[in-house]
Amino acid sequence: ANRIVIKVGTSTLIYPNGNINLAAIDQLAFVLTDLRNQGKEVILVSSGAIGVGLNKMGLSMRPETIREQQAVAAVGQAELMNIYTQRFSTYSQLTGQILMTRDVIEFPTSRLNVTNTLEQLLKMNIIPIVNENDTVAVDELDHLTKFGDNDQLSAIVAQLVQADVLLMLSDIDGFYSDNPLVNKQAKLYSQISTIDEQLMQQAGGSGSSFGTGGMQSKLKAAKRILNNHSMMVLANGKQPKIIFDILSGKTIGTLFK
Ligand code: ADP
Repeated sequence: ANRIVIKVGTSTLIYPNGNINLAAIDQLAFVLTDLRNQGKEVILVSSGAIGVGLNKMGLSMRPETIREQQAVAAVGQAELMNIYTQRFSTYSQLTGQILMTRDVIEFPTSRLNVTNTLEQLLKMNIIPIVNENDTVAVDELDHLTKFGDNDQLSAIVAQLVQADVLLMLSDIDGFYSDNPLVNKQAKLYSQISTIDEQLMQQAGGSGSSFGTGGMQSKLKAAKRILNNHSMMVLANGKQPKIIFDILSGKTIGTLFK
């Protein structure tokens, strides 16, 4: 794979107690820079704006109203990029921020503009860091107990740039026949090539209060990828170095192909 989109969930970036997992972010910067130096084209889709905002503002709980959440996201997005810029700088890697909404693909002009920007950044050896623009898009903030869902966004980005693979890093080893946190008998799927109703039924919601859309949202993203004849790997992002193993072809997580 030469063109890779990597999506990291909040669970990879922020500890359950609300602290920022700088070790994971640093490892991510190291790995992505190394891939870039191998000549691969890398795009990062990162959640975490609200989590980082809460941390920065000393808040322990996500506020109730959407507009308060947007304010927290505004603080957090700037701080998140600050952290990324810092970490990537230690590896002499430039990054650029892309804030977009999922509906850009509905409008040919905005779709083209986003694609052009992404392509140009890649051409300049810069790693684009993409997130949803929470100021403009409120739908993803519309849950009081969950962080936003970047799963669809990452699939859309992969589609826009015709990525070879989407690596979706979560807090779980892959897609199971049932939520493994609830059912210890649940079995890991190593490969899935079609997403049907039965699979959808096996996907539960988010496991943690910090999670996003849960497994259904990841399956929906996988469906988009499969429709697009591309592939996606769902794996555990606790140690971002796992990306090296996935790309070297080891059987890790669930391959959607
Ligand atoms: P992220 O923050 O990485 O986007 P989510 O919390 O949204 O992660 O989704 C991952 C969670 O989905 C897992 O921790 C798990 O508890 C839950 N889950 C529900 N059903 C399944 C399933 N069939 N296979 C794997 N995980 C599942």
